[in-house]
Amino acid sequence: MKRREFVAATAAAVLYAAPSDTPAILGGAPVRAQKFPSWPVSTEQEEQALLSVLRSKHWNRGGAVDKFEKTYASLTGTKHCLAVANGTASLITSLGVLGIGPGDEVIVPAYTFVATINAVLLYGAMPVFVDTDAETFQIDHRKIEAAITPRTVAIIPVHLGGGSFDVDAVLEIAQRRKVVVIEDACQSHLAEWKGRKVGSYGTTGCFSFQASKNLNCGEGGALITNDTDFYEKAFAFHNNGRPSSSSRFSYGSPGANLRLTDFQGALLLAQMSRLESQARTRETNAAYLTTMLREIPGIAPAKTPVGCTRNAYHLYMFRYDPAQFAGMEREGFLKALKLEGIPGDDGYEPLNREAFIRAKLTDRGGARVYSKERIREWDERNALPVNDKLCKEAVWFTQTMLLGPRADMDHMAEAIRKIQRNAAAVKAKLA
Ligand SMILES: *Cc1c(COP(=O)(O)O)cnc(C)c1O
Repeated sequence: MKRREFVAATAAAVLYAAPSDTPAILGGAPVRAQKFPSWPVSTEQEEQALLSVLRSKHWNRGGAVDKFEKTYASLTGTKHCLAVANGTASLITSLGVLGIGPGDEVIVPAYTFVATINAVLLYGAMPVFVDTDAETFQIDHRKIEAAITPRTVAIIPVHLGGGSFDVDAVLEIAQRRKVVVIEDACQSHLAEWKGRKVGSYGTTGCFSFQASKNLNCGEGGALITNDTDFYEKAFAFHNNGRPSSSSRFSYGSPGANLRLTDFQGALLLAQMSRLESQARTRETNAAYLTTMLREIPGIAPAKTPVGCTRNAYHLYMFRYDPAQFAGMEREGFLKALKLEGIPGDDGYEPLNREAFIRAKLTDRGGARVYSKERIREWDERNALPVNDKLCKEAVWFTQTMLLGPRADMDHMAEAIRKIQRNAAAVKAKLA
């Protein structure tokens, strides 16, 4: 190499190296300029599906919903599937069938979306929170039994983020203590526990097809069950207490109109043609991302519990430790990460501390049911230190960020490493 070429090459290398290691928040080039894959995925297949419902003039629950239910039941290996208006409606229907009412206690995790406990509160029942396992982000099954009282009727454990809670442990406790298990699988389509689909283990399993979920029709939901009696009661409940769509005006139970339309049924059938391949992409990308992230000090990816043989990765979750990033708070880290082109989310707030829950239990109706003594006990049981800490440490990447090429994972890891290498300077800039 001639001297002039050498100088030029070195200068270029210096010019290139310097900005590339400068975090975007300090004026450097971001690790990533392009966007992550958009969601939902939709093609002519969806257009045709919707058009055919439109032209059929049968827009409410009909053939498309029936077909979706059969397909989803067979996919999950269960006898029955009932499509409903949304995931919250699947929980409301399940609790309605079980006759949950004022004074009953229902065990719930604290690290979940609010719908899990809204379903309980709407019946005037008492949600009893159980702490979270920080390693897996799932309900800590070791703490469930202590939360059971003679008033406990059901447990609604959540398969969080596409993973699974410890199904064996929960079923064992539930059977021994005679409480019903309603699996909230709203985030875990296709996830498996010991080779069998989650949602198929409890008396019922609840799913959501809301826009952000891995299977989506804008708004939608379903419950699955192997119990024919439960299914028939659930059907009636979601149909304003009418046992079958052909029955006249006589009612065997209360209920509501929680039916899904054929537009949504058709959309779901089209979306399901891609569900498996999308799940495989997420799995492969998540596994690769984990091998990189677990090498970064202060980044602890959520562990998939041992029995969870398939993780659907609705969320890619990890814990962030500021001590390994020069004391930079999580919000600052997320800001720096976003400027590198990597959007991260700080996840759930401690649900058990939401003031509206206590307010609901002590309002006019609540006060008729729950004595001051019972509310005092609830307050005492409601301290969940592990969950409080986890809520401060958690970072999520959403499922759509796992749908692109492997290079996207490299970008995510590299952005975190770059912020760590420059943590002190980034922290100073944030201050
Ligand atoms: C999304 C979700 C729900 C509610 O589903 P919707 O379809 O939005 O009503 C319930 N539980 C969990 C864990 C969820 O993530």
